[in-house]
Amino acid sequence: GLEVSDAVVRYGSVTAVDGVTLAVPPGRVVALLGPSGSGKSTLLRAVAGLEPLASGSIRWDGEDLADVKVHRRNFGLVFQDAQLFPTMTVGRNIAYGLSRWDRAAQRTRVAEMLELVGLPGFEDRRVTELSGGQAQRIALARSLAPSPRALLLDEPLSALDTGLRRRLAEDLARILRETHTTAIHVTHDHQEAFTVADTVAVLQEGRLLQIDDPDALRRTPSSKDVAAFLGFRA
Ligand code: ATP
Ligand code: MG
Repeated sequence: GLEVSDAVVRYGSVTAVDGVTLAVPPGRVVALLGPSGSGKSTLLRAVAGLEPLASGSIRWDGEDLADVKVHRRNFGLVFQDAQLFPTMTVGRNIAYGLSRWDRAAQRTRVAEMLELVGLPGFEDRRVTELSGGQAQRIALARSLAPSPRALLLDEPLSALDTGLRRRLAEDLARILRETHTTAIHVTHDHQEAFTVADTVAVLQEGRLLQIDDPDALRRTPSSKDVAAFLGFRA
C-alpha cells in the first residue's frame, strides 16, 4: 500500500501541503476532502510524482518513491477533465497503456473495461461525441486497463451536474471495490467522499484536520472546522 509521511510541498513561499501523514492500505479507497486551496491536488500530484516533496516521504510497499519517475510509479491518473485523446476512438484510448500487449489481448481487455464502466460496445465511438459522464467513464476505463497499482482521481466528477455526479459516484465506488483497486479520490463534496471512500481525510490549509471512516467522521468530527465542512452545526 501507499504511505505518505510528514509530506511537505512548497510553491515558493506558499506551503501547499504542510506535514501530511496518511496511509492507503491495499484495496482501500481514501478520499481527500477539503475546500478550494486546501492542498488536495498538490498532495495527489506529489503522490503521482508531478511535484517534488520539500520534506517527508512517499512510499509504496516500503519503497521510497522520491527518485521514481512518474511513469515508473505505475499509478493511474484521472482528472476533472477526462483528457481523452480526441483523434482516437474510444477503443484506442483505452488501449493506450497496453502497447506491449498483443492485439487480441488488447481487444479483450478493452471490451472488459467497457463492460466494467457500463459502456459495452463503445469501442468504435468517437471521443468527441461522448457526453461528459461517458467521457469520465472512458477515462476511468483507460486508467484501469493496464492494472495500475493504485488510482489517483482528482475531482473526476466535479464537472458533471449533481444528479449524474451522485450516480457516477456510486458506480465508481462499485468499480473500485469490484476491482480491489487502491485509490485516492480528491473531492470537495463530502457526500461524494462518503460514497466513494472507506476513509476520509479532511484537509485545510495543507494540514490534515481528521482522518476517519465516514461513520466516525459523521458521529465525532474532531473540530468545529470539520463539522462545518461536513455541513453540521457545531
Ligand atoms: P481546489 O479544490 O480549488 O482544486 P486544492 O485543494 O486542490 O483546491 P491546490 O491546488 O493543491 O488546492 O492548492 C493548494 C495551494 O497551493 C493554494 O494556495 C494554491 O494557490 C497553491 N498552488 C497550487 N498550485 C500552484 C502552483 N503551480 N504554483 C503556485 N501555487 C500553487
Ligand atoms: Mg484541486
